[in-house]
Amino acid sequence: MSEHEFKRALGYANSAFDLLKRSAIPPYPQFYELLYTYATGVNPTLNNRINAIFRNGNTPSENLAEALYNEFLKSDVNDRMTNVSERMHARIEAVHEAIDSAMTTANAYSGSLQTASGDLERDISPVAMKALADRLLSETRRMQETNIALEKKLEASRDDLASLQRDLDDVRRESMLDPLTKISNRKGFDDGLDAAIAEASVSNDPLCLMIVDIDNFKSFNDTYGHQTGDQVLRLVAMTLKSNIKGKDLAARYGGEEFVAILPSTDIEGAVIVAENIRRALQAKQLLKRSTNEKLGRITASFGVATYCAGDTPASLIERADRCLYAAKHAGRNRVISETELADILAKAALVAGASAA
Ligand code: GH3
Ligand code: MG
Ligand code: MG
Repeated sequence: MSEHEFKRALGYANSAFDLLKRSAIPPYPQFYELLYTYATGVNPTLNNRINAIFRNGNTPSENLAEALYNEFLKSDVNDRMTNVSERMHARIEAVHEAIDSAMTTANAYSGSLQTASGDLERDISPVAMKALADRLLSETRRMQETNIALEKKLEASRDDLASLQRDLDDVRRESMLDPLTKISNRKGFDDGLDAAIAEASVSNDPLCLMIVDIDNFKSFNDTYGHQTGDQVLRLVAMTLKSNIKGKDLAARYGGEEFVAILPSTDIEGAVIVAENIRRALQAKQLLKRSTNEKLGRITASFGVATYCAGDTPASLIERADRCLYAAKHAGRNRVISETELADILAKAALVAGASAA
């Protein structure tokens, strides 16, 4: 994490704590998350709701914080996960019960067989023999019935478990998606980057990481509203997705920042992909759906870094972030790669050296 990022996160954390204290809301994780999210401003609808409370001179109560947390942050993936896990638990219980009852019957049956074999070793009358055969027959039938019942229960469980497995896969997939843009979320990206780095470290194939940040998006939101801003986020996600292929992974990193993992791609190739996306974005004339009002154009800045032996996800992200920062600094709407950044820094050092001499 860069120092800049660290300071920014600490600022959000401090203001979340101040708000918790000011509102006398206990600093439980969910309330901290709520007010941290408020401090970042990434969820404008949530912020509008909380701002309305502050505007009236009030502070949010614990109950309201709970309601807002449930509405905005509590993931419905969690609820579905709980549901799947409860159903799984109930299914396993039912199978256990069926097995227990089958075992009781089997034990009783084996007891009867033992008694019968003891009886058979003695000389017994034909009448007693008939009674023994009848008893064994009826016990065998009972055993058969129990087995059939067990088989049915196991079959039902097998079907149920297959459907639970599908639900679980759905929930897992969904937990990796950003609800607004429907591309991977931060979790999906983190997992993808771990895997890509693990692969690059053994295959010696190149791997690049691209970070994209929409330019002046705050002012776009302020001018056209957050709903329209959200449309733009969807558009950027789709543009990103349609310009990558195969094993590449595009994700929303947070707010108005996106990332793309580009395996088997060298830095020159990654710069070409980034340039394509940059051009595609600036070429789009945005229209407000409801009124056809022209909304001008949006642009984005790009940082591109390439994996080096020994890189961790954090070190690779940090280098891509530095390139992104340089792209912003150089006037936005541009792609800066590590190679280019090295050139820029070398030239700057030369100039500084020359003017010092
Ligand atoms: P820069 O060119 O330096 O990146 O400027 P910027 O205005 O894009 O950057 P800044 O970090 O100041 O503001 C980012 C803005 O992105 C703040 C917020 O309004 C907006 N934003 C973040 N997440 C969302 C979202 O989910 N929806 C909408 N509509 N806006 C968002
Ligand atoms: Mg940003
Ligand atoms: Mg931005």
